[in-house]
Amino acid sequence: MIPDKNDPILVTGGGGYLASWILKHLLDDGYRVNTTVRDPSNADKNSHLLGLSGKYPGKLDIFKAELLEAGSFEKAMEGCRLVIHTASPFKVMKVRDAYRELVKPAVTGTENILNSVKNNPAVKKVVLTSSVAAVYGDGSEIERTEEGTFSEKDWNNTSRLNYLPYSYSKALAEKKAWELAGSQNSWQLAVINPGFVIGPSLSKRIDGTSVGIILSMANGKFRTGVPDLYFGIADVRDVARAHVLAGFNSKALGRFIVTAESLSMPDIAAILVNLFGRRYPFPRSRIPKSLLYIFGPMLGYSWNYIRNNVAVPIRFDNSRSKNILGLKYRAPAETLKDHIDQLERDELLP
Ligand code: NAP
Repeated sequence: MIPDKNDPILVTGGGGYLASWILKHLLDDGYRVNTTVRDPSNADKNSHLLGLSGKYPGKLDIFKAELLEAGSFEKAMEGCRLVIHTASPFKVMKVRDAYRELVKPAVTGTENILNSVKNNPAVKKVVLTSSVAAVYGDGSEIERTEEGTFSEKDWNNTSRLNYLPYSYSKALAEKKAWELAGSQNSWQLAVINPGFVIGPSLSKRIDGTSVGIILSMANGKFRTGVPDLYFGIADVRDVARAHVLAGFNSKALGRFIVTAESLSMPDIAAILVNLFGRRYPFPRSRIPKSLLYIFGPMLGYSWNYIRNNVAVPIRFDNSRSKNILGLKYRAPAETLKDHIDQLERDELLP
């Protein structure tokens, strides 16, 4: 499906780290975009949107919408054939009420948006941002996979409201989307399951989890060392491109894992040291698992989490993203270099 360049495309959560790049790709490609934010008057959160709207006059419309309010996205959805739904809370630390902060907005938000899609026969395709967090919870789930690799066939079996609740929220929200997609014939669903997204941000926001973790690698917060935790890494620009490719390709249906490579936190630190030397206080050591059992609980890591994730390498099959979407991946070193350069340029590093 190639939308007419005059029909708007809805991208939810345009103030966010990932959605900003989806907007930029669409606008650079000549499309009209409707986007939503919770608070259009918040200049700190939305200044990059005003920049894009100045660069592309008449191409970007910003609407106010809230995931928990039924019908909130209907106005922004008017006239759209393609809806890209990214808005969802992304928080892994300092979660006090997991249901209220994560699960309810993720699941109710998905339900509200897809109910609005149901009321809008113009919409033919929905691209949902899920996560590899919906594919697995604990890294140790790798043991039950075919060939020791996570693929689109896998679902998170270990996360709960009181254990990795962000991952739980993503799994529940994605399941809700498949349930609603399966109950109708009017629109089709593609789901993007990105790994840990890093790379340059279009805004100076530092409240997001991805930006916060890379900032912590460079500002000395992790100076004493990092745990041997493994992630599938993906460049924010590649993840954004995957959404656009999925939206426009009628064969792009189902789930798409989007990760370039699996790296541990010490691997990421080593790449940063290699690129930037001693310019920033990057982590220089790996915290032994035995030490984490002692100090981890004080830092928010439970014994269960340490046992099932630390020093447990994981791998992902990204072949559907390459073969069906035609996605090309940047190397993690390029992503990390561009990310630190952007933080430096925006004077966000010490
Ligand atoms: P982000 O910068 O924190 O963006 C989250 C977006 O969700 C923001 O635009 C936020 O709006 C919006 N949002 C949160 N709660 C909302 C609510 N109640 N009503 C309306 N909007 C709400 O995080 P991100 O990294 O770009 O994440 C975007 C999506 O990618 C999420 O679905 C996340 O789960 C998924 N994802 C991210 C990663 C990653 O590593 N970053 C990996 C896999 C999947 P405000 O601008 O108003 O705060």
